[in-house]
Amino acid sequence: MIVRLEKELQKLQEGGKRLAFALDEVARAIVSGVRTIELNDIAERIIREGGDVPAFLNYRPNGASAPYPATLCVSVNDEVVHGIPSEKGILKEGDIVGIDLGLRHNGLFVDMAVTVPVGAIDASAVKLIETTRNALNAGIAAARAGGYIGDIGNAIEKLVDGSGFSIVRELGGHGVGRAVHEDPYIANFGSGERGERIVAGMVLAIEPMLNEGGHSVVLSKQDKYTFRTKDGKRSAHFEHTILVTDGEPEILTAI
Ligand code: MG
Repeated sequence: MIVRLEKELQKLQEGGKRLAFALDEVARAIVSGVRTIELNDIAERIIREGGDVPAFLNYRPNGASAPYPATLCVSVNDEVVHGIPSEKGILKEGDIVGIDLGLRHNGLFVDMAVTVPVGAIDASAVKLIETTRNALNAGIAAARAGGYIGDIGNAIEKLVDGSGFSIVRELGGHGVGRAVHEDPYIANFGSGERGERIVAGMVLAIEPMLNEGGHSVVLSKQDKYTFRTKDGKRSAHFEHTILVTDGEPEILTAI
C-alpha cells in the first residue's frame, strides 16, 4: 500500500510495534527442548491479547490448495520458510530457527521474520545469520523514494556477493499493508534501476533468504508449504516491514 493518511501511518506504526514485541517474545522462548507448536501458541496468544488478528492463520496464498494452518511459520535448519509448527517438532542445541509472523492491527497488515540460534551454534551458522541480517539492512537502505524496486535486490546481492552463501531465487519480498502480500514483488537479487519506481509512503516487506550451500529450494510434497534447501544445507531469513519516506526508510517492525 501507499500510506496517504496520518491515521493509516499510526495504525501501521502501532501494528509494527506489536508485531516486533510478539516476535521477540517468541524468540526468547527458543531453547533446546521446546516444541515448535509452543512457539506458535505464544505468538497466537500475544496477538489475540492485543485484540489483533494473526495474518497467516487460514491465509491461502495464490495457487495453494489449502489455507496455512498456523499463526507462526517456524523453519528449522534446512527449512527455508513456511515451516508449519507441530507437536513433534522439537528444537535442539545447535539448530537455527527462522520465525516469521504477521498480524492485522485495525485493518492493516505488517510482516516480520528473524532467525535465532538454539544455544551454541557453529561458526558457519553464525556467519549465515549475520550475513542475512546485513543483507536485510542493505536492502532497507536501498529503499529510497526516487529509486527503483530493483535497487533493493541489487543492494542485497552486492552485500551477499563473496560471502560464499547463495540467495534464494524463487521467493522474495512484497508490498504489504491492506493485504499480507501486495505488489510489487521484490526479488532479492538482480540489476538496479529496474522495476517499479519507489515512492514515499510505500509500505514494503523486505525479506532476504540466504542458503549456506546452493540456491535451489524444494517445496514439501507432504505439507505443500515448507520450502527446504535442495542440498540439505541450512538457510536463514530476516524480514522487516518498512515505510519509504523522503529520507531514511522507517522500520515499522523495529524491536
Ligand atoms: Mg513476508
